[in-house]
Amino acid sequence: MINVNIWFKNFENVIRVLDFQKKAVKDLCGERVIDVLMHFPYDVQLRTCNLDVAINRNDLERQVMFNEIITIEDFAPGPFKTSPIQILATGKSGRVSVLYFHGNKAYLKKKYSIGKTLFVSGKAQVKNGEVNIIHPDIVSTDTSLYKETVEPVYRLTSSLTNLMFTGIVRRLLHLMPDTEEWIPDEVVKKYGWPSFRDALLKIHYPQCVDDVRADSKMVKRIAFDEMLANKMCMLAIKEKLKSVPCSAFPRNNVLADKIQLPFELTHDQKHVLDEIFTDLESGMPMNRLVQGDVGSGKTVVAFLAALSVISSGFQVAFIAPTEALATQHFATISRYAEQIGISIDLIIAKNRRYRKTQIDNLMNNKTQIVIGTHALLEDNIKFAKLGLIIIDEQQRFGVMQRMKLIEKGYVMHALYLSATPIPRTMMLSVFGDLDLSIISSKPAMRKPIQTAIVSAKKLPDIVEKVKNFNSQVYWICPYIEQSESKSITDATTRFAYLKNALGSVGLLHGKMKPVEKDAVLNDFRDNKIKVLVATTVIEVGIDVPNANAIIIENAEQFGLSQLHQLRGRVGRSDQQAYCILMYGYPISAQAIERLQLIKQSNDGFELSEADLKLRGHGDLLGTHQSGFDSFRIFDFRLHSELLEIANNVAIRIPKNEILLGIFNRRDNIKLM
Ligand code: ADP
Ligand code: MG
Repeated sequence: MINVNIWFKNFENVIRVLDFQKKAVKDLCGERVIDVLMHFPYDVQLRTCNLDVAINRNDLERQVMFNEIITIEDFAPGPFKTSPIQILATGKSGRVSVLYFHGNKAYLKKKYSIGKTLFVSGKAQVKNGEVNIIHPDIVSTDTSLYKETVEPVYRLTSSLTNLMFTGIVRRLLHLMPDTEEWIPDEVVKKYGWPSFRDALLKIHYPQCVDDVRADSKMVKRIAFDEMLANKMCMLAIKEKLKSVPCSAFPRNNVLADKIQLPFELTHDQKHVLDEIFTDLESGMPMNRLVQGDVGSGKTVVAFLAALSVISSGFQVAFIAPTEALATQHFATISRYAEQIGISIDLIIAKNRRYRKTQIDNLMNNKTQIVIGTHALLEDNIKFAKLGLIIIDEQQRFGVMQRMKLIEKGYVMHALYLSATPIPRTMMLSVFGDLDLSIISSKPAMRKPIQTAIVSAKKLPDIVEKVKNFNSQVYWICPYIEQSESKSITDATTRFAYLKNALGSVGLLHGKMKPVEKDAVLNDFRDNKIKVLVATTVIEVGIDVPNANAIIIENAEQFGLSQLHQLRGRVGRSDQQAYCILMYGYPISAQAIERLQLIKQSNDGFELSEADLKLRGHGDLLGTHQSGFDSFRIFDFRLHSELLEIANNVAIRIPKNEILLGIFNRRDNIKLM
């Protein structure tokens, strides 16, 4: 067995790196050797010995460096302190000057002492028939460096130069052991893929730009590995979850018979509920994600599911991402709970004062359903008989929350609710360990939201319209404060402006204290404020049915999914709702086209699919909490043809710890 542990060591323990480089590399790539090797170049740069190539390409976008061997003839520091230092020399291409506009004179004089022969490489310029090389980036007495080379170009932070980073990567590469192939032979052969090690070598020693493109065999091979590791991880989690039996709850229950909803469930709601009941009856832990566009009515579905658990004498915990949302759910669900006489509680950081009683009630099974934030997961919170957790709007993060409860020794059913529409192509890859239910229709009475695209120049007209509008209004700005972007009006400035123009205006953004946020939201919910100026903090779950218009400034700054999510804040009553997308100048035709898509479509899935094609998965709403950010190489736009292959391979081969380790998937399984 080959020792591959070196991949998983901290790079700074394996090679010598300067302190400032250590920090920069760590921030950029991560700590382990393999993390650094997974930082791929995006372009290549030629170092040519041919002056014509260097000069002709000088104006082009891609840089070309010129190599030369020079013999120093004179050192001319210039008359003033600020004069450039000129080193006169003869080279293979004729007369050559090396120029420094700043630098230590004594040091340079020694480096370029007269009569010395040196290899220099840098950007070349021809002036009056003479070649200038300004601040060469390589100067060496080793003339064997004089040959044409191709260098990888990396995306870097300012404290690292490309040469520095290339050096670090290559030193690590040479320590890299070969591994056994984890992909079945026939698959590797069929696609002509190199081995894992060869792929990395060729990517960091590219011959041409095609080698580092996303569709090169090398990059595809690694992208495939990443997806394979991901699938393997999903399968392992799924298997593990299914291996522990869990209480079974019958679908017909006394509470469900008693409850009277003010509306009839939609066909989709009924269907999803049926899927949930089947899980709850099965005796195996449910692990289900309900995806439904904003306003599709997921909360009531989750609540009805909870009733079958409560009927059997078990408890339900409902976790929301923010205090505001938890409080909102508490208010909605309390109304129903009262009707049918079940006890409900709210656990958020704010009401810690009552915590002891609250915990007692949970431990005595007096509280039947508890709503809360992550405060519900704190160590001191214990349940008598936890049967189900419902996790709202937190996607991947929710899985971790569930883990916490499992660690506490609870075996329970889990239901995740999400309004983030995820392109179908990505669904299985990101949530392959969950069963999936989709609510695609909305309650029938809703009128489709009318969306308009207007220029920011129409601001006074819009303010006038808002003044005369008879329901409440959300007003969204991309940033909180001015400093972030000069040409864009921030929420704070807009708030002051609208407050002046309209009077009844509130401000909500992420930097406010939770108490302040709650106060503003409550005022808005109680219709004490007409206009709520906010950043995207309101995009998740806030439900204020009397808000019937949303104005989004600089809409071109947002992703399609995000705009759709924001728009979903309105249209929650039987009133006609409006969404105004304002754009700033200058705006590209392309950006307008994107906004047109929002205007034309009201289907979150369709829009997320379009987003994916236009901007890649990095831009999809909530990538951070949803887990998409865990793909470093795999790109859902460019590598989708690998998905199916990875699916097939993952079910055929045994779990591979090394592969899982490389792509950081091992911990996910260990947590289970
Ligand atoms: P989301 O899926 O965005 O979480 P909610 O569960 O908050 O949606 O529901 C949005 C609104 O629609 C709520 O006010 C809810 O009471 C209402 N609602 C849910 N289901 C129906 C239905 N079948 N008919 C009418 N209104 C419904
Ligand atoms: Mg919701």
